[in-house]
Amino acid sequence: MRIILLGPPGSGKGTQAALLKERLSVPHISTGDLLRAAVKAGTPLGLKAKAAMDAGELVSDELVLGLIEERLGQADIGGGYILDGFPRNLVQAEALDTLLDRLGQPVEKALELTVDEEQIVRRLAKRAAEEGRSDDTEEVVRNRLSVYHQQTAPVTGYYADRNLLIRVDGMGSIEEINQRLVDALR
Ligand code: AMP
Repeated sequence: MRIILLGPPGSGKGTQAALLKERLSVPHISTGDLLRAAVKAGTPLGLKAKAAMDAGELVSDELVLGLIEERLGQADIGGGYILDGFPRNLVQAEALDTLLDRLGQPVEKALELTVDEEQIVRRLAKRAAEEGRSDDTEEVVRNRLSVYHQQTAPVTGYYADRNLLIRVDGMGSIEEINQRLVDALR
């Protein structure tokens, strides 16, 4: 199964992708995780990405597309994939289509988790306390949400136009939401 998970920061994409990965036995590819690993390792790419990440802005398309191209070039995506946090804007969505067509692995479904903004702010505050992510502070969260509305929300229209988009209610318990996603993939 070849899936994209869409939704605002704090909508539970990472949590749900980890569950779906087990169920579907396909790799979970999160550009946020790949970028955080690069920052932690102090690679040249990580050094370039850090300032944008700390400010809640998008890292440049050039960096992210290079990262995703390398990851999708690995053999383990032959059985499918779950993309989480990518694409984040229309340029990335179009580049991804070109890349996946070339690999013969086009997207089958784009699942959008929909969550109230109030709930998002609560979830991210909880994550800030639990995980200490440097971009979960109130000010940066506000910026990440604004970037989401301006740049990433149009990506759902991109997949809707291609009849690939399924909206899934992202409110409720982790198990409830997971069941809705599993039902949407049938
Ligand atoms: P995430 O873990 O998906 O919330 O991503 C954390 C941060 O990494 C984002 O706020 C961006 O700064 C950066 N990032 C992750 N994915 C992308 C992407 N596809 N394009 C640009 N920046 C990204």
